Amino acid sequence: MADAPVPRPSTAPDGDPAGSGRGPEPDPVAIDQARRLVAAATRIVVLTGAGISTDSGIPDFRGPNGVWTKNPKAERMAHIDVYVGDREVRERAWRNRLESEVWQARPNPGHRAVVELERDGRLLALLTQNIDGLHLAAGSDPDLVVQVHGTAHEVVCLTCDERAPMQRALDRVAAGEADPACRMCGGILKAAVISFGQNLVVDDLERAFAAAASCDLLVAVGTSLGVYPIADVVPTALRAGAALVIVNAEPTPFDAHADVVLAGSISDVLPAIVG
Ligand code: NAD
Repeated sequence: MADAPVPRPSTAPDGDPAGSGRGPEPDPVAIDQARRLVAAATRIVVLTGAGISTDSGIPDFRGPNGVWTKNPKAERMAHIDVYVGDREVRERAWRNRLESEVWQARPNPGHRAVVELERDGRLLALLTQNIDGLHLAAGSDPDLVVQVHGTAHEVVCLTCDERAPMQRALDRVAAGEADPACRMCGGILKAAVISFGQNLVVDDLERAFAAAASCDLLVAVGTSLGVYPIADVVPTALRAGAALVIVNAEPTPFDAHADVVLAGSISDVLPAIVG
């Protein structure tokens, strides 16, 4: 895991037949099955992706209205070599960050439903691919949250590893610095998120896979399950004998292995299965 922990592009099917991004109405029988699985579980792991935050106004990448679905060139900017090697790309990235919907976004019923799962101590871990901080804003216990792809709320220097709040860097951009440099060493600053070509944090991966290997229920929410290595928590949990519930508007490569697949709106479905 630690050797090549590089997210790789999805091979998941794309295109939502409804074109809505929210999927069809969920089957009430399937909702009931999922609710029973949640009620019976004693060691739950939740894995979330960009889809849990679309109802908070943050587009996903690969859904019908995804950033990369609509503009495939945007994916190129997510590569570390391109960011480091091209000042224009960095300046555009800073402009995008300044205008990002992430800063105004608020948690939605999906994020709040995950907090509910913590109440009786059965949640082992909340593994999120999201960088928007909305699980923490919703009140999820920081000790249980593993932000495997980092956070947009901090910046990191690519030379000296100094970290600082994103807001401070954004203030400098707003004041006219197109590509603010590290105040400690002059190095290139970047949001503290894992870009393609960057290594994931080994400790985060170890926590994520240890939790998956010891859970009795994995709930995968709003993720195309096409970004690795984190998608491998699914087969890890299955090998450990865990049940699998998938809540996602579009099909995922693991649907055939799931006990229940719920293809409805996360904001509707998740509160219904945890209650
Ligand atoms: P993805 O874009 O590959 O897949 C998101 C899935 O969510 C899609 O299959 C889509 O159909 C589904 N979906 C979207 N809205 C939904 C809704 N309201 N109800 C039900 N389903 C819905 O996302 P991913 O698997 O997380 O992988 C993308 C990568 O992009 C991750 O590494 C993540 O770090 C990053 N990302 C994060 C954010 C964020 O922090 N909010 C936003 C965009 C991308």
